[in-house]
Amino acid sequence: MGPADDDTLRLKPEAPSRPRPALPRALAVLLGIGAVAGLTWYWTGPTPPPAPPPVAAPAPAPRAAIPLVAEADLAALLPERPALVRLAENPRVFLLLFPDLNLQAAALNRVAALVEKAGLPRDRLLDPAELEAAIARSGDTPATWYLGHDYRAADLARFFALAERDRVPLNEAELWVRDQLALASAEAGAGPLALISAAAPGPQMDAAMRASVLRHEIGHGHYFTLPGFAEHVRQVWREGFSEAERDGFRSFLTREGYDPTNEDLLANEAMAYLLFTPDPRFFSPDQVGLPPAVVERLRGLMQAGLALP
Ligand SMILES: [Zn+2]
Repeated sequence: MGPADDDTLRLKPEAPSRPRPALPRALAVLLGIGAVAGLTWYWTGPTPPPAPPPVAAPAPAPRAAIPLVAEADLAALLPERPALVRLAENPRVFLLLFPDLNLQAAALNRVAALVEKAGLPRDRLLDPAELEAAIARSGDTPATWYLGHDYRAADLARFFALAERDRVPLNEAELWVRDQLALASAEAGAGPLALISAAAPGPQMDAAMRASVLRHEIGHGHYFTLPGFAEHVRQVWREGFSEAERDGFRSFLTREGYDPTNEDLLANEAMAYLLFTPDPRFFSPDQVGLPPAVVERLRGLMQAGLALP
């Protein structure tokens, strides 16, 4: 894990060719909170040994709210340790921001295996050797198995319930996710919640790719938290797509490792690739074997159901 002795949130210096934008207000607030109160939504490093019980318990310090960040400000938000923030445009969407792909992989690849990777058990967690073998079979590395993740809070809760049921040891990164799920749930209250993730740019993912990953995962965040939109997407998938068009997307998504028997997942992914994935390295009509005009028609059908809160 990274150094544990510095609680300061830093913005990475930008490349000299790109002027630094004025510090957005939300980030300025975030930095201010961080300096004053400590960033309780940060990974605080390995769990210290239990302290002796205090003579008189101090009053608990009020916990700072999880910072709201606008999508446009996420590009500049590159925390050096895993951090939890909340999407300003849809505050039922929480973002787990990781400093690198390997840490994101340690935190979430077993969840991906349980929830949506093809050919893997849906009723128990993989052990580390099984996970490693599944990733190797896919031709990926842990870091690139997914560049970003997206889950319903309910699916994450199921992951942790299965771990507890089967006494599966969780790694430090997974335990951090469990804590963030609890924080997000406590702050957002009842109703559907999404936790999505992205890592900072690095050798395997440049800044433009990260922006595209974030946009794609935010699309899933809307799907998970706006029931009317999700119902619209499923209806378009069932009735607006022809069988051949569904097959084109199903083949593409199968190649990408998604479970092709999960219609909810396929509809959600088709929507996210059509509406929220502008980078042609991640999605283009070629990849689904359909003419651009057909893809444009399907995009229009999906778009018609999206109204942000
Ligand atoms: Zn996706």
